[in-house]
Amino acid sequence: MKSYLVNKYNYLIVGSGIIGMTIAYELLEKNKNLKIAIIDKEEDVAKHASGRNSGVLHAGFYYSADSLKAKFTVDGNKLMKQFCKNNNIFVNETEKIVVANNEIELKGIYELQKRAEVNGVQTSIIDEDEVCKIDSNIKTYKKALYSPTTASVDPIEVCLKLKEVLKLKDVEFYFNTSFKECHLEYEYMINASGAYADKIAKQFGLAQDYTMLPFKGIYLKYLENKTDIKTNIYPVPNLSNPFLGVHYTVTVDGSIKIGPTAIPAFWRENYKGLDNFNFSEMIEILYYEAKLFILNSFNFRDLAFSEVKNYSNKIFIQKAKNMVKKIGNNFKPIPAGIRAQLLNTKTNELIQDFVVEHTKDSTHILNAVSPAFTCSFAFAKYIVDEIDKNKKENK
Ligand SMILES: Cc1cc2nc3c(=O)[nH]c(=O)nc-3n(C[C@H](O)[C@H](O)[C@H](O)COP(=O)(O)OP(=O)(O)OC[C@H]3O[C@@H](n4cnc5c(N)ncnc54)[C@H](O)[C@@H]3O)c2cc1C
Repeated sequence: MKSYLVNKYNYLIVGSGIIGMTIAYELLEKNKNLKIAIIDKEEDVAKHASGRNSGVLHAGFYYSADSLKAKFTVDGNKLMKQFCKNNNIFVNETEKIVVANNEIELKGIYELQKRAEVNGVQTSIIDEDEVCKIDSNIKTYKKALYSPTTASVDPIEVCLKLKEVLKLKDVEFYFNTSFKECHLEYEYMINASGAYADKIAKQFGLAQDYTMLPFKGIYLKYLENKTDIKTNIYPVPNLSNPFLGVHYTVTVDGSIKIGPTAIPAFWRENYKGLDNFNFSEMIEILYYEAKLFILNSFNFRDLAFSEVKNYSNKIFIQKAKNMVKKIGNNFKPIPAGIRAQLLNTKTNELIQDFVVEHTKDSTHILNAVSPAFTCSFAFAKYIVDEIDKNKKENK
């Protein structure tokens, strides 16, 4: 029997991205009688980060061992593949090669292999001949990192299927409903509102030292021969910032895309031109970006200069060209995404890991940055346990 009063929900989840929906899924795995409402300010699921990403199921070798990201990527990758299998969603087992350009980046390859070993991720270091057998077009300096478990999915297809599955389990979705305008009655609230998670958390007295900074991830789709690239190809990232660098993704239909960039954006949904323009957000974000620029925290100046250059397709494409022997010039823009990146306003650092805060009857997911799509099912199990603990402590 359902444990609800009429119109009163056990849980209100704000945000129908992958995080909000996987939390609903895992809550119901633990107790199928719960009554859950999911609200979203948009007209459907996955209108923001969850539907505007690379669709890569990461393996988990980038992250330092003590992070939540490291803890959930390996299991998250397996659980997402399982969900896809159970629901007839195609997973393209693309694998992945991380390439080096020079001696310094070669050291980065060994560092990533070390992290993979600590995190229990299956990877190996391979030489140029072995790289050539996987994809003869790839260029690397001496060695590369090979990841057999990296794969691609269509993130929108995953989210739409999850909505369908949740509806069958009696979860009620309220679209075009922002948290501010929501009049539902509920016992416990879960804030999974992505780019606006800090704003909502602040209404509960949380996230006091944080604000969200948006970074725009532009993509270009390759319009020539689909077989020019056979696997996902990534550069060695700068591990001091949370972005992985412009890479090649082989998508579910075998198309090739390059991106995403990480260009500082001026408002939270600043996807293109003046779309979703928000003046007060712009003032706030410009203030923090100017501060980071002046202080040059985490080399923000270099990041900003190098990323802004990506607005030039020529420079953007050249970055991708550096990783292969031969690729054409015919690319077209496809929808961009925005990385909602949490900034600590006291230390002026970008937060690399997921952050979770609670009040006695609410839980707030702050900084669900990449690879949160990959992690989502495993992360959601953890959140459900954290909610149980929180409730017990506040009984
Ligand atoms: C360019 C880019 C590339 C990425 N690539 C990958 C990748 O390859 N692999 C990977 O694992 N991860 C990747 N990620 C990360 C991944 O996409 C995100 O971590 C994940 O989608 C975050 O999910 P979410 O549910 O927290 O946020 P979202 O999907 O943004 O969902 C939040 C929802 O909350 C709603 N909302 C906001 N405010 C309110 C409000 N006030 N009231 C009601 N609703 C509200 C929004 O409309 C939205 O639907 C990438 C991200 C980006 C931007």
